[in-house]
Amino acid sequence: MAFKNEYLAGVYEDVCKRNPNEPEFLQAVKEVLETLEPVVEKRPDIVAAGVIDRLVEPERAIIFRVSWVDDSGKVRVNRGYRYQFNSAIGPYKGGIRLHPSVNPSIIKFLGFEQIFKNSLTGLPIGGGKGGSDFDPKGKSDGEVMRFCQSFMTELAKHIGADTDVPAGDIGTGAREIGYMYGQYKRLRNEFTGVLTGKGLTYGGSLARKEATGYGLCYFTEEMLKNNGTSFAGKTVVVSGSGNVAIYATEKATQLGGKVIAMSDSSGYVVDNDGIKLDVVKQIKEVERLRISEYANRVPGAQFFPGCSGIWTVKCDIALPCATQNEINEESAKALIANGCQVVAEGANMPSTPEAIAAFQAAGLLFGPAKAANAGGVATSALEMSQNSMRYSWTFEEVDAKLKQIMIGIYNNAYKASAEYATPGDLVAGANIAGFLKVADAMLAHGVI
Ligand code: NDP
Repeated sequence: MAFKNEYLAGVYEDVCKRNPNEPEFLQAVKEVLETLEPVVEKRPDIVAAGVIDRLVEPERAIIFRVSWVDDSGKVRVNRGYRYQFNSAIGPYKGGIRLHPSVNPSIIKFLGFEQIFKNSLTGLPIGGGKGGSDFDPKGKSDGEVMRFCQSFMTELAKHIGADTDVPAGDIGTGAREIGYMYGQYKRLRNEFTGVLTGKGLTYGGSLARKEATGYGLCYFTEEMLKNNGTSFAGKTVVVSGSGNVAIYATEKATQLGGKVIAMSDSSGYVVDNDGIKLDVVKQIKEVERLRISEYANRVPGAQFFPGCSGIWTVKCDIALPCATQNEINEESAKALIANGCQVVAEGANMPSTPEAIAAFQAAGLLFGPAKAANAGGVATSALEMSQNSMRYSWTFEEVDAKLKQIMIGIYNNAYKASAEYATPGDLVAGANIAGFLKVADAMLAHGVI
């Protein structure tokens, strides 16, 4: 879609000039700006105050060297990033991605999207994201620890429980958060909720580990319910086999769906009897092996190399939970041709713009990442609340709050879609609902 609105076209042109060679960031900005056309037409005050011109520029970018020593005694160097994008409604909040593909474009797209997602949760958290091109895969615990300590030695200067609160993301799980938290505590001599996704013995929240995947399914269930159906009896395909994918599979199964395929970056497994999640957890969470191992352990299951083939598996509901742009137009068309009726995004920006257009044209129910996967960060904000109170809620209490938040996000996104765009266009609805709260806060703060 080209911009009809001249002001937005100008903003986007400036973003392109200022951020060349950053395709993921430009993709994320374009998608949001396209959906804001009806808003800028109704709200000249937002245009006059330059809110959108300011929103597309991070408040602060921190880039730093991360040196560490590997097990053979060799000095290794990675690059660390933290983009503090927007703090209008709360301290910067967003995960740390550890993956060899990490670069400014990827961290900026994630940080930019985080602004709207965090706003949608209804909780007081701003947007940020960080990471490094370090690959934890194949590294020993000692190597991961030395990397995390070095990474945090610099990052600690820029974060704090009321300033910026990082969390996990691809490659950053409980082990990495533990090492980073330990180093922060040592450097600052304070025990505060500066990271979320912490272990339960040192301030973590019950249900945080499950939150993104569970939240995705609560959101999807609400979307299904509002369209007269549910997970019960539906066939589900989940890409990835990391944190989000595992707990999306768990909740989809609890809600009556049958998950028949999961993947990792090497390929996918199909188990028509329903994925045995205890086997996946053992392989991925405990032994840190490849998903192909599932086919060795479960009779009847099959492994196929190459990860995009998972979208050719016939299903009613697709939950992409691996990485950005994992569903292109061809994969989207394969899903549609096989009768898929629902796509809800657990990963960030997993569908290309062409894929989203194909889903919308075919009338699928589509839950965009900013809304559908906000349960992780929402529960991180609940972890921050518990840390501030020096108190812990039970699993059931956190889970109930998460469910209410996801239902609220669906309703707010739906309401904004009906008010400003097409009812049920949750891409527009989520962007608009998330944007308006941040824009109003930025207006209140003056030009800063
Ligand atoms: P994990 O590292 O736990 O798992 C990532 C999974 O995706 C792994 O199975 C990995 O396979 C697979 N994967 C990664 N890159 C690729 C690729 N290029 N092609 C195919 N598969 C790939 O990460 P999370 O589960 O935490 O994150 C998954 C997605 O969800 C990301 O987009 C993340 O930003 C998003 N997200 C995460 C939240 C959280 O709370 N953790 C919150 C909101 C969003 P392999 O092991 O082979 O690399």
